[in-house]
Parts: sequence; structure tokens; C-alpha cells
Amino acid sequence: MNDVPPETIRSASRRYYSVRRTFWRFFIGGIFVIICVKELDQILQNRVDSAIRLVISFVLAMAFLACMIVVFVASRRSQRFRCPRCGRKFIPSIGSTWTFSDAQCIRCGLGLERRYLRNGDAEA
Ligand SMILES: [Zn+2]
Repeated sequence: MNDVPPETIRSASRRYYSVRRTFWRFFIGGIFVIICVKELDQILQNRVDSAIRLVISFVLAMAFLACMIVVFVASRRSQRFRCPRCGRKFIPSIGSTWTFSDAQCIRCGLGLERRYLRNGDAEA
């Protein structure tokens, strides 16, 4: 297990979890935008001109679309992520981006840990 330098594992962990973090931030952001669309429309219903409401809805729809594009790209990036030890794909396929736990390479079992995101000097 110690054949990969700790610094390599550390930097791979940071890259991997940074992509995963981006995925979740924008996924939750997208849900938040949907909630805003619904709530704002109700709040503004009798107060604002329908044309303005349409513009606001359009802007929010574009924000939602942008979030989903980032989610898609981050998901693809995490699926294409290469293991620093064996050089093959780190996670199997669709679905793996959804887990919250620490990840292990499906080929060689090398583990990448979230803690490197917070503490760059942590040692195993
Ligand atoms: Zn591996």
C-alpha cells in the first residue's frame, strides 16, 4: 500500500474530492433554484407585471441549466478520474459520484480520503 508517495495520494485526494464537492454544490444549488422559481412566482404573482415575472423565471431557468451543466461536467470528470497507483479508472461508472464516503480504487483498492481537503499536512 505504501508504493505511492504520500504527496501523490494527497494531491490526488484533493483533486478527486474537489470535483465531488463541485458536483454536490451545484446539484444542491440547482435544487435551490427550482425552489426559488416556485416561491418567487407565488410571491410576485399579484405584485409584478407578468412580463417581468417571465424574465425572472427565464433568468432562474438559465441559472438552473448552468448548475446542471456543471453537475454533468463534474460527474464526467469524477468518472474519468485515474487512480494514482494503477492509472486506471478510479470509480466504476454512473452512481459513484453520489456516495458521501471515502473512495477506494475499484481496481487496486487504493484509498483516497476526504480529510486531505481540509488538512493538507495530515499523515496516515
Ligand atoms: Zn488503482
